[in-house]
This record gives sequence, C-alpha cells and structure tokens, in this order.
Amino acid sequence: MEPVAVVYHEGISGYDFGPGHPFRSDRFPKFMSLLETHGFLNDPRVSVLEPEPAGDELLELIHPESYIREVENRSGHYIPLSGDTPLSPSIVEAARLIVGGSVLAGELVATGAAEIGFGVGGGLHHAGRRYGGGFCVFNDVAVCAQSLIERHGLERVLILDSDVHAGNGTMDIFYEDSRILFVSVHQNPLTIYPGTGFIEQIGEGKGAGFTVNVPLPPGAGDRCMALFLEEVFKPLACEFKPQAIIRNGGTDPHFMDGLGSLILTFQGLWTIGKAASQAAEEAGCGVVDLCCSGYNPATVAEGWLSLLTGAMGEENPSVELAPPPISSEAVLKETERIIGDVKRHLREYWEFR
Ligand SMILES: [Zn+2]
Repeated sequence: MEPVAVVYHEGISGYDFGPGHPFRSDRFPKFMSLLETHGFLNDPRVSVLEPEPAGDELLELIHPESYIREVENRSGHYIPLSGDTPLSPSIVEAARLIVGGSVLAGELVATGAAEIGFGVGGGLHHAGRRYGGGFCVFNDVAVCAQSLIERHGLERVLILDSDVHAGNGTMDIFYEDSRILFVSVHQNPLTIYPGTGFIEQIGEGKGAGFTVNVPLPPGAGDRCMALFLEEVFKPLACEFKPQAIIRNGGTDPHFMDGLGSLILTFQGLWTIGKAASQAAEEAGCGVVDLCCSGYNPATVAEGWLSLLTGAMGEENPSVELAPPPISSEAVLKETERIIGDVKRHLREYWEFR
C-alpha cells in the first residue's frame, strides 16, 4: 500500500442543499466514520489533513471574478444558482473548502508527499468557468488541474471522470487545452443529465483529441467498465504519460443509486480506483482521487471506500446490500460498438495500443 493523504474538513458539511434534495452533507462524516470502522484512520500509512478554504486567487485560476461575485451576491440573498443548485453563505463557504481540499490533495501528490491524495467532497464537475448547476458551484477538479500546471509546473495532467453523469463543466473548461487529457466515462447523455458528453466531442484547436467521451448505455455494468478501462483508459494513459492523474466521480454509477441507470457493483467501482493507480504507477506519478456523488444514503460511503481501496490496492470491505444485476449481452455488444466508435473518432490523435 502507498502513503495516502485523506483531505477532509468538517466544514464541508455546509455543502448541503436541504431536506428533500438528493445531495445532503451527512455523506461526509459517514464516510469518515466508515474509514474509522475499517481501521484506516489508525493505519500509519494513512494521514488526515485539513484544507484551507480557497480564496478568490485560487478560484480565479478557472472562474472569472465576475462569476465569483455573482455566486457571492446570490448566496447572500439565497437565490439559487440553477433549479437544482440552491445557494446560501454556508454552501459557498463549504464550496471554497472543497476547492481548497482538492487543491491540497493535488499539491501533496505533486510534491511527492503522498501517492494518493483523497479529497473528500471533491469532484464538482458540472461547474464551468462562468456557470454552475448540477449541484456544483465551483469546479474543484479544474482548479486542482490548473493549479498543478501553473503552480507546480506540470505539463500533462490526465483527468479520469467516472461519475455516472458526464463532466460537462470540466470538458468545457479544458476543451482547447492539450495539457489536460480529459477522459469521461458516463451514462449516455441522451438518457441523463447534463445532456452532453458525446463521442463526437473530442476537443478543439490545440485541444483536439484531448477530450474523450465514452457514453455507456443504461444497464452497463462491471464488464462494460472493464472494457472501457482496458481498451480506452489504459492505452491512453500509456501514450499520454501523465505527470498526475485526477480521478473524480463517486457512487452514482452503482446499481442501487437512484439518479443513474448504470449497474456497477462496489467491485466495479474498486476496479476504477485500481486502474487509475496502476496507470499512475506506470507513469511514475500519483493519483488525486475526488469523491462527492452518490444518491442512495445506504451505499454512498461504501462506494467511495470501494474507489479508495481500489486506488490503494487494498481489499474492498464494502458488501452489497442486494444481489447485483448483470449486464445483458446486448448492452455488452452495444458497449463494444461504442468503444470502437470512440477509437475511430480519435484515431488521428491516439494509437490505443
Ligand atoms: Zn453524478
């Protein structure tokens, strides 16, 4: 096992959208107590660090000042950012802490202080430079990546977004940037929020070929994910030679999650964490791992732990609460077709060896 830094601040509990909203903040302390239950907090190889809230200077690596002011102004008057994303002063304060946490996780990995920097609450990938929504106020994934480039001199950062929803905000932000290879595997956006993240969206200008969208059909499970990891993610990581890998996305691809229609198991989530850390090991770099999503309170923390233990190469202690369904042959065939299509769209940029 590699040295792991878990970046956590109790203050992120302010990132709570209220009763009836699928994003409640009890997920954060629940995850920390699950780590404790399984002995990870007493493990000498695991440290827990507290981040500082991100100031404007850090946010401005990605977000223009006008957007930050708009968020602050709205939050003071409790005016939502979008239909699904309420704002309040405590939500914005917690959002700044989450960004600070993801940046710290990145810093620890970039300086070699940790092999795995696990940012609890990170992965707010639906926020673009000038917009928020989809429960995301500031894009901590993008701020983390940009900070690795601008403040630590990295030239190649790979982002693996394995959330059930496509990472539209992160995609938009880096669409013309060849320093960030953005790979998003998600449920077909014709069938789920945010309605974008299609195979044809491969980046533009200098960034052409550096955005990779792999939209899986509803009903895709562990075997489909394995196919993506083997045929798309691993070869790309091998060719790109990242100096850091940021993996984001929580439990929402799990079969018991209410917001998505993918049917991954905890073991399937584990394989994603494992693939990210294996690719990092081959490239000689570390992994920043960011988890916030998951909309079944009974599985969210266990799913994050699956991703983390996968990255650590530790046995996964999470136990399914129901027998997992299995992808149909038709869904597997469709996934093979999609992966072939992804490679065809990118063949002038990558060899996929
Ligand atoms: Zn999601």
